[in-house]
Amino acid sequence: MTNSEYEKMLEVFALTKNFIRQQIDLGFNEVYNPVKTKKPPVKKEERFINTSLEDFHQQIKNCKKCHLCKTRTNFVFGVGNPEAELLFIGEAPGRDEDLLGEPFVGAAGKLLDKMLAAIQLSREEVYIANILKCRPPENRDPAPDEIEMCQPYLLHQIELIQPKIICALGRISAQALLRTKSPLNQLRGKFHDFMGIKFLVTYHPAALLRYQTYKKFAWEDLQFLRKEYDKLTGS
Ligand code: SF4
Repeated sequence: MTNSEYEKMLEVFALTKNFIRQQIDLGFNEVYNPVKTKKPPVKKEERFINTSLEDFHQQIKNCKKCHLCKTRTNFVFGVGNPEAELLFIGEAPGRDEDLLGEPFVGAAGKLLDKMLAAIQLSREEVYIANILKCRPPENRDPAPDEIEMCQPYLLHQIELIQPKIICALGRISAQALLRTKSPLNQLRGKFHDFMGIKFLVTYHPAALLRYQTYKKFAWEDLQFLRKEYDKLTGS
């Protein structure tokens, strides 16, 4: 093989890798697309007493239910207004979040702050949490058993916060909560029903950093979100 053929082959590999990554981000592994999701069953031992959000944080912060407790630096509970009308749910802590114990503090977090500012909201007004409270090694996708074990914590956070709208950031949280494999581009653009709460899906800020072309769709989602927020909160 000549040098130029070799370089061409590497270029094709790089393009293919990028394409596959893009398809995964969009969630192209569709099976069905539900519109109404009841609260998933919670085992008796996982029903929590209704305390304050901070008491609940203290109660679960040393969780060792799954193996991610062995590799985490910090447990990442969530941040924001405990009485927020709008709850954002991401995937799992990344490296920066694991180090600081707060969700969305790295580059993706900065972009999320800008997205909030674009619809005249701040981090202090909303609440931000993740599907998983501990970082998966090498920022890999959360495994189904990890989601299963961690999800009761998030569901109880939702019960305590009682938001009027939930916005899932990225396909992982959207698919996990809506219990679907429908691709992100089919889930976005409409409100779903999650436990009686309006549920919107948009891109994860990390995906927006990788693929600028999604930004215009994310902007549409944000405007849609703000309109419904105004309607439900009388803003
Ligand atoms: S990821 Fe969730 S279930 Fe697993 S150890 Fe952390 S808090 Fe516990």
